[in-house]
Formats: sequence, structure tokens, C-alpha cells
Amino acid sequence: MMMQNNSSVSQYRSKESLAQGSPVRVRFAPSPTGFLHIGGVRAALFNWLYARGRGGQFLLRIEDTDLERSEERFTQDILASLKWLGLNCDEAPLAQSHRLEVYRQRAEELVAAGHAYRCYCTEAEVEQMREAAMKVGKKPQYDRRCRSRVDHPAGQSHVIRAKIPLEGSVEFLDLIRGPIRFENADIDDFVLIRSNGAPTYNLSNVVDDVHSKMTHILRGDDHINNTPKQVHLYHFFQYPLPQFAHLPMILGADKKKLSKRHGAVSANAYRAEGYLPEALLNFLARLGWSHGDQEVFTIEELITHFSFDHVQKSSAVFNTEKLLWLNGEHVRKASSERLVQIVVEDYAPIFTAASLSRASSPLGIKIAALIQPKVKLMKELADQMVPLCAPGVIEVDSSGLKWNKDSSLKIATQAAVKHALQVLQGRVAEALSREPVAESRAAGDLEVWGSSPSLAQLGMSPTDMDAFLRQIGDQHGIKLGDLAQPMRLVVTGRLVSAGLFELLVLLPWDLVEARLQKVENL
Ligand code: GLU
Ligand code: ZN
Repeated sequence: MMMQNNSSVSQYRSKESLAQGSPVRVRFAPSPTGFLHIGGVRAALFNWLYARGRGGQFLLRIEDTDLERSEERFTQDILASLKWLGLNCDEAPLAQSHRLEVYRQRAEELVAAGHAYRCYCTEAEVEQMREAAMKVGKKPQYDRRCRSRVDHPAGQSHVIRAKIPLEGSVEFLDLIRGPIRFENADIDDFVLIRSNGAPTYNLSNVVDDVHSKMTHILRGDDHINNTPKQVHLYHFFQYPLPQFAHLPMILGADKKKLSKRHGAVSANAYRAEGYLPEALLNFLARLGWSHGDQEVFTIEELITHFSFDHVQKSSAVFNTEKLLWLNGEHVRKASSERLVQIVVEDYAPIFTAASLSRASSPLGIKIAALIQPKVKLMKELADQMVPLCAPGVIEVDSSGLKWNKDSSLKIATQAAVKHALQVLQGRVAEALSREPVAESRAAGDLEVWGSSPSLAQLGMSPTDMDAFLRQIGDQHGIKLGDLAQPMRLVVTGRLVSAGLFELLVLLPWDLVEARLQKVENL
């Protein structure tokens, strides 16, 4: 792709770039024509990481000049998603729809400076020119007939076009792909201002990147064909060329461009499914970028290690199982306090008011800590907390119990649970009569869970519980697993749950007792 230098190339060489030495300024510039999707999040992330790792600034610009396709609800979705992801901006976001007059002025300046001209051709005429060009085997282009036009028919509808040099070429350095060069002859005299006065993407994009003093432009490689046009505009505006980096596409498992067909693609949908922001960011960072063979990164590690040297040129394939696995890793890394906060914020509707305040109490956080190692999604954590934090006895589905296929097992197990209950009731009564339990419960717990102590507060550990139930099982001739199954169901509402022995000693005894009594009536 590299060719020899000639004068018109060297004008645009990135060695003139201001990128070296000046503080990094980058931006994410989404168009609010849909919900913020995964590809957009990755572009935002790479910009943000680059800025954060180099003491630079990260800006947000809403490219909403397409008034018909842009919608406020999509802008709100972009802002909310970036906030959820923690990709914070250093300056107030810029909305292009507020700057339409600026783009028109800049275009007029280019006309005055001889870098742009008015074109009075109708759309139909331009279409004919394109067809004619194709017939003779040329690229479909506007034939530049208004370029040297001197009359300016007053009041006649027109567009403003860029006056691209007829010869020479344009070259820019892409931080991922290396030098990229386009022949000027292949670049259309593209439209800057439409006949209705609206700017085109290429104009407003460059005007704002100049206005915001951008040093690096990092975006999806679907824009690579716009870049030569924009390089000319930077030159027309006498702005030193930023460094470019075009990120490879994200593909679905079928190797086609990621789209709604592949399921959830909006950032918000991942939140709803129970992904943690740091897991999604870790996953997206690894899509097309690597640091040795490390897979799990904290945000701080991503900031420290991210650079363009290890961004791959080829497209990256979206692997949902890996995202799920990574989420589990980050759920384990997170503090239980924070996970509970997320549960309360994102899953409140599946709780009752009473169970929600129990979930957010200190005991709720301990319950979350028991579930945390066993789940991959926040939704699973919330689902498992609901029955554990519900006051009193809970409805359960006993159809999956092993004893349904063995009535003598059922009878023996019910007797064993009853026995276990009696022993535990006796021990609690004795312990309480010996010395009233010091109120060791945290204030938040007392308020919402009541004042009944837990077996742990009476000195029983999960290991003690394990040994105790094993012994009861032995006495009744049943295996620990068979004894535990209905107990687990009535206490946790599920057949698979966080550690039963831990929960039995952690939850207030009156709750455990009431739930275990239910085994008799299953
Ligand atoms: N609005 C463009 C997009 O969403 C911005 C591209 C760029 O970063 O320059 O694709
Ligand atoms: Zn024309």
C-alpha cells in the first residue's frame, strides 16, 4: 500500500500530527439512531482506556444531525449505558443538532477559501452522472461540473461540495493497520452541506473534532473509507492531522457482522440479563485486543495495559459463553455489598418491600456472599435471594424431591427432620435460658429480621451442623444428601442452592424453625 512520497502526500503525513507530545484528547461520537450496542461500547471503551491510561481527556459527542433517524430516547440510552459502564466523560457532551449553524459557517469559509463550491445539479442529474461513469467502467462519482462554475443563480437550491485535488493522493497512519493511502482521483467531490442546509457526517464530524481539539480518532473500521475525505477536510481547516485507529468489526458466532439476529446486542440488555459492567468491559476489551494470555482484567489493569500495539487487524468473534464465564469471574471478585446494591437497584421488582429491606441489611449481604461463588449472572443472585429474604414460610415446589419415588424414604426423612428440629429446639431453649444472647445483630438486621438469634450466634458452626445432621441421618438410616434435600427446599425454595449448613446457622433461628416445620407437610 505504501508508495513513494510525493509532495501532495507529504502534506498530509501524520508525522506532522500533533498527537505526539500533546495531551491525549479522544471522543466517542455515537449517532442516536438506535440503542447503544456492543460495537459502540467497545469503541467508547478503547477511547476511554486510551485517555485514562495517558492522563488524557475523554469526550462524548452525540452525532444527531440526521434529524429524522435520531431520537431522544436513544440519546438517553447512550447516556445511561455509559453511566452504568462507568465510562465517564471529562467535558459536557456536545450535541451536533445544536451546532447546525456552525457547520454552515465552516462550509461557507471553505467556499470562500476555494476548498469547496456550490453545486446546483439536481439529484437526478447527479444520478445520471454516476450511471454514466459506471458505464465506462469508472467509479460512480459526481462529474465535478460545477467546480469551476462562476454564475450563482440566486435562490436556486444547491449543495456545497468539497473541492478535492484532482491529482496526488492522501495518506494517513492508522495505529492498528499502519499507513493507508487513497488516490485523490478516487475521492468524490463529496457533499458538505445538503440542499436543505443540513451538514453531512463528514463535515460535522471533522468540524467538531477540530473544535474539540482531538488528537486521536478511534472508531470502527466501517468508517475507513470516510477517513481520506476527512483528512482533506483537516487540511482545509489547517488542523494538524489526528492519529487514526480503526477497530476491527465484531462478528457473531456465524462470522457475520454482529446484529440483532445474534440476540442481545444493546448494552442495556446485558444489564437486564445480569452482567456486571466490568465483565462486559473486560470481555469487549479482549475482543480484538490482548495482553499475553491474561483473560480476567480489572478496569485498572485494562487502563494500565491497553495500547494499540496489541489490537488485532482482523475481526473478532463474539463468544457468549466466554462472556458468561467472565461474568462469573467478576461476580466472585466483587464485594458482596456492591452486589447487593446492584440487586436492589436492578431487581427490586422481583422482591416484596419486606424482602427487599432484608436483602439490603447486613445479614442480606452475608446471604449474598454465600450465593456469590455459585452464580454467573446477577439475575441468578437476585433470584436466589428472593426466597431467602422473604419473611416466614415460603411456597415450594416439591415435585423434584427424591422421596416422591420412595415413600419409605419420605417417612424416614420426615421423622429425621422432626427429630433434628426437636434437638435443635432443645439446644436453643437451653442456650437462651443459660444466658440471654447478647444483641449481636446489626441494627439493620434487628429492624427487618427480628430479634431471634441465629444458631451461629448460639455457637454452632456450619461444620457442627454438618456433623449433627450426619449423625441424625445415621440414626434414621438415611444418607445426609437425602436428609438435606427437603430441608434445602423449604429453607431456600430451591433444590440447588448456596451451602445449606451455612444458611441453617446464619439465618435467624425462628425463620429456620418455621421453614423446617414445613417438611412434615410436604
Ligand atoms: N457517528 C459516527 C458513528 O456512530 C461516528 C464515527 C466516528 O467516530 O467518527 O459511527
Ligand atoms: Zn453540480
